[in-house]
Amino acid sequence: MKKLSIVVPCYNEQKAIPLFIEEMQDVEMKIKDKFSLEIEYIFVDDGSDDGTFKTIKRYSKENEEINYISFSRNFGKESAIFAGLEHSRGDYVVVIDADLQDPPILLLDMLNYVINERYDSVATRRVNRKGEPAIRSVFARKFYKIINKISNAQIVDGARDYRLMTRQFVKSVLDVKEYNRFSKGIFGWVGYKTKCIEYENVKRVAGETKWSFWKLFLYSIEGITAFSTIPLQMASVIGVLLFVFSIFMIGFIIVRTVIFDDPVEGWPSLVCIITFIGGMQLLTTGILGQYLAKTYLEVKKRPLYIIRDKNFDNEKEKR
Ligand code: UDP
Ligand code: MG
Repeated sequence: MKKLSIVVPCYNEQKAIPLFIEEMQDVEMKIKDKFSLEIEYIFVDDGSDDGTFKTIKRYSKENEEINYISFSRNFGKESAIFAGLEHSRGDYVVVIDADLQDPPILLLDMLNYVINERYDSVATRRVNRKGEPAIRSVFARKFYKIINKISNAQIVDGARDYRLMTRQFVKSVLDVKEYNRFSKGIFGWVGYKTKCIEYENVKRVAGETKWSFWKLFLYSIEGITAFSTIPLQMASVIGVLLFVFSIFMIGFIIVRTVIFDDPVEGWPSLVCIITFIGGMQLLTTGILGQYLAKTYLEVKKRPLYIIRDKNFDNEKEKR
């Protein structure tokens, strides 16, 4: 019998988990009925500091399909997804949020595409951003425009991490061993035949989002540096342009001094130029720094997560 692994990253979701499990029960019956699949859950407790771990543990005692991994601290959703994929054993694997913003009922459609239409993965995207702060939507849209322009990771606007994959697809994702993980990009980068299905945005059932505007902003920079080196090239291009411009300016000033004998006038413009160039230099050094920092983290090869507790044994090939 084939198996479906359901990977659920959880960080402070003690209120959402019971609701999630309840809703899944119904969907699970339909899945077993229609596709005759076995099911395993892998709840990844990402170092929560509320009762998330206790809640998962309690459910795992009642239901042997429920497996859990608990991290030694909060490592972030990317690490939680990676750990879940690494420990999954199913022929098909789905990554789904615990807050019911990824409607479980869609799983039936997704499985249909993978099993009957032989897609390698089914992605989801929200068609709107109802209930989200307007400023966040504006920046998010810009981010998707930029990253699609400057990188080869094709990411559709509103793409979620909610995704069903075949074992082969998962293996390819796990083969991407980078430390600075940006899953949305990696999923696109590995290729394969992917079907994208759309749905209306749903509000989370309980608790609060873990993403502040600032966290999202840093995450978007992560995405850009992970999938594009265009900012580095931009730095060099700006440098060359400014250099050419300055040669012209030097010529202009020499001529003006010789003809009009006026070397002093114009210091305000000088101040403007100095601050402009200074700013540009800091900006480009900053861009360089971003890549250097990422390289630094990458060469250290620290593990992506540390497990404090788990209730099942599936030591995948070690990283
Ligand atoms: N999450 C996680 N680690 C984190 C932050 C979030 O495992 O450091 C989980 C969280 O529990 C949820 C999912 O990732 O299941 C999505 O998080 P959230 O709902 O806060 O994000 P949003 O839906 O607002 O983008
Ligand atoms: Mg959410």
